[in-house]
Amino acid sequence: MSLHGDYDSQNIFAKIIRGEVPCYTLYEDDDVLAFLDVFPQSYGHTLVIPKQAAARTILDIDAASLSKVMAVVQKLAGVLVAELAPAGVQVMQFNGAPAGQTVFHIHMHIVPRYEGDALNTHGAGQAEPQQLEALQARLLKRIAS
Ligand code: 5GP
Repeated sequence: MSLHGDYDSQNIFAKIIRGEVPCYTLYEDDDVLAFLDVFPQSYGHTLVIPKQAAARTILDIDAASLSKVMAVVQKLAGVLVAELAPAGVQVMQFNGAPAGQTVFHIHMHIVPRYEGDALNTHGAGQAEPQQLEALQARLLKRIAS
């Protein structure tokens, strides 16, 4: 049952937290990491994850850790809207494979939505590294301003 089970410390986000796999970081503190999705469903698709909680889903995470994640989600949603000027922004979170979860370390999706643009397929279609680097630089500049 993908909704339940033991936390796998070899999942891709655990490796990103440990620095074993690179990512396009937008924000990091002791508790939270935010980075660009490399298979973006829209331009600016961002993921926000807890660093300390070994939690697969929303059922596993303690409320204090989840609150810290959500504070960063709110801040970065504002950054994405300010910099990319989408017509809308979706905040999404999936629990269990039947609900769409593919990586079993809890995470929030921030997905800017542009007028008339359908979403790319979930978890498919890797973005070009140059595009992700340029987007990261643009968003980091906005965060610093
Ligand atoms: P889920 O389907 O579990 O809600 O979302 C997992 C997300 O992680 C997907 O949007 C997928 O594109 C993204 N993802 C999968 N592997 C990697 C990776 O190696 N790096 C990054 N940055 N995102 C990934």
